[in-house]
Amino acid sequence: MPDTRYIVVERHKGEEKRLSWTRYATRAAAEEEADGLFRAAMDHTYGSPRYYGIVEEEVPDKTAEPGIVPCPQPKEPRVKKILYIDMDNVLVDFRSAIPRLDPELVEAYGRHLDDVPGIFALMDPMSQAVASFRELARIYDTYILSTSPWKNPSAWSDKLLWVQRYLGGSAKKRLILTHHKNLNVGDYLIDDRRKHGVPRFCGEHIHFGTKKYPDWPAVIAYLRPGAEQRGQ
Ligand SMILES: [Mg+2]
Repeated sequence: MPDTRYIVVERHKGEEKRLSWTRYATRAAAEEEADGLFRAAMDHTYGSPRYYGIVEEEVPDKTAEPGIVPCPQPKEPRVKKILYIDMDNVLVDFRSAIPRLDPELVEAYGRHLDDVPGIFALMDPMSQAVASFRELARIYDTYILSTSPWKNPSAWSDKLLWVQRYLGGSAKKRLILTHHKNLNVGDYLIDDRRKHGVPRFCGEHIHFGTKKYPDWPAVIAYLRPGAEQRGQ
């Protein structure tokens, strides 16, 4: 069954531009984002106002898919299952950086804000992400599996510094930056998108931000009991 997603669009000088960095699961969440963008734009708009609206998009219902690709089994059962966690819009609140940018940069980069030098140093953690990561890092063999923009070299170092700043020792030497997530062997991958090899990851994709796993408490409620049963 298709799933409805809500996307914020920007209307400026007679043109409509789709702001595609997030597809929201609820209209209310998209409207909140649109309202915030409108208020931010009001502060920096001179003579040509910007307006923000919502459009709907039908996408395949990912939660209805099993999302599990069989992996070759290790000869010995793993003491701890291997868990990968994405950064943008899973651990890291990408949108939190936008109001902190120079409005001229926001205008210049448009839909490619991930290419703004230094933007990844300005982001806050997602709600409850840090505590959730620390808990999962104790009970799973946990790694951060993220993609860094090819055209933004500072993003690569900013992501490392973000992990060191917010996750500290629990993530030491556990950051992997790749455009080919499927090449990592593991049991679980928490990711808000199905790009960069996620559908071919051999293990279970926990699709963050969907109806099934809308936030960190939902993910923890799913992963904690499994680890406890295995005595991790
Ligand atoms: Mg992401």
